Amino acid sequence: MLFEAPQLPAADAVWAEAHAALLDQVQRGEPAHALQRLARSIAHLLDARCRIVAQLGARQQCVFEGGVDPGDEAALAEPPQVRWQLRLSHAGQAVGELELLLPELGFAREALTQRIEPLLNTASALVAALLEQRGHAPPASLSVARAAMREAGTYVWEWDIASDALGDIDEGALMLGYAPHQIGHTQSDWNRLIHPDDIDGVEAAYEAHAEGRSELYRSVYRARAADGQWRWIEERGRIVERDANGRPQRMYGTQTDATVQHALEQARQDQLAAEAASAAKTEFLSRVSHELRTPLNAVLGFAQLLDVDTSGNPLDDAQRRRITLIRQAGEYLLAMIGDLLDLSLVESGRLQMQIEPVRLAPLAADCLDLVRGQAQAAGVQLRLEPVDTALWVRADAMRLKQVLINLLTNGIKYNRPGGEVTLATSQLGSGHGRIDVSDTGIGIPAEQHAGLFQPFNRLGRESGKVQGSGLGLALSQALVTVMGGQLSVSSSPAGSCFGVVLPVG
Ligand code: ADP
Repeated sequence: MLFEAPQLPAADAVWAEAHAALLDQVQRGEPAHALQRLARSIAHLLDARCRIVAQLGARQQCVFEGGVDPGDEAALAEPPQVRWQLRLSHAGQAVGELELLLPELGFAREALTQRIEPLLNTASALVAALLEQRGHAPPASLSVARAAMREAGTYVWEWDIASDALGDIDEGALMLGYAPHQIGHTQSDWNRLIHPDDIDGVEAAYEAHAEGRSELYRSVYRARAADGQWRWIEERGRIVERDANGRPQRMYGTQTDATVQHALEQARQDQLAAEAASAAKTEFLSRVSHELRTPLNAVLGFAQLLDVDTSGNPLDDAQRRRITLIRQAGEYLLAMIGDLLDLSLVESGRLQMQIEPVRLAPLAADCLDLVRGQAQAAGVQLRLEPVDTALWVRADAMRLKQVLINLLTNGIKYNRPGGEVTLATSQLGSGHGRIDVSDTGIGIPAEQHAGLFQPFNRLGRESGKVQGSGLGLALSQALVTVMGGQLSVSSSPAGSCFGVVLPVG
């Protein structure tokens, strides 16, 4: 259990002085002396025993000790309370270790780590200098190869399985942004960084490889980086040494930070799932619409027959009104099902369009005629601005009519008694024609514009008197887009204007 203590064993100034003295030694090119002195200084400053081990090769070591009097048998026999091993690495490669044996840890480990860090860096540089002096520096080509791999995001490791030590090469700390000594250097230390949900998978992958069930050890897991974030690590490796009984002794491998690729793959999977869900929804809508149409046409047909049937007793006024209501409700439903079917066809890219030059003036007049009855019933005036008779656009005439009728109907529905709906056309300089349907209605607040073209979004008018399904504008926009045009809106409390822009025909 660590606890925060106000004081470290030596004041900053003492540490700084010790460090400066050591740097002086380094510059004078005496790494062995400097290391010896460093071990003693650290031992003195921490009131501990300090061992610095320079790894000269696979089996050869050079050890520098401080804080222990070789004649003090009692002190040597007394077991230390705290053993703290810190990895020394230089240019991304492990070169040795610094071990502290403390009677007790009377201060926070983080505070000590921070204080000792410059000394560790110096120790690492000294050990590297010593190795070079004694001809044990790794060949330059190997360092370059490792550096190149690091630049490409791949880090190498070596695991001495019997001792659990991550060997000379262990760059995992670097990959996750830790200082080399921060995470310890056994496989168990590393495993503590692995996400608890992933550790079983990692161990299973190792077992499979160790037991010969898989040619290569491979696992993908999350590990906690120095900044506290989880990173996705892709790890591969192979057992390179076994004992006489076939027990794994040594393993080499690489680690790659695959967080970005993982995020991209996740986004791709999400998109595929969303596309599949959308395709399923479109398919469902299209089937349901088809299935609903048939019985609904029967209902409408028989209501019509009842209305004109003279074979029995004549119908009274109340009965006729009821039949009219059945027909109106049926027609409304049929129109809504038609919109749903169209929308699903557009979404699935199966809507057939016949795009050709269309003259706007007669088409606009036709549309106004078709909504005249509705406008009269609502007490709304229809106006057609003088239309350029020479204006042609490229469109599917039937679908363009459908869009304009929808916009005109909205202009009438969301208007005030005595209000106006105007249809105007204009030729734009950009090789496009424009049709504006404007009204003197209730307007649409700017913050609701984004929701206007979403299917089934009625902008909160669900419980109002005006009937609607919220499909009209979504479908209109989809149709105009398929025709290569654009549908836009502008609005104020004095009314709204919907504009359809299409290429000139
Ligand atoms: P519907 O009219 O069937 O509800 P639409 O998709 O045509 O569906 O329109 C969506 C919503 O946009 C309407 O419910 C209404 O709230 C609003 N809206 C559409 N046109 C106008 C307009 N001209 N003036 C005011 N609000 C409108």
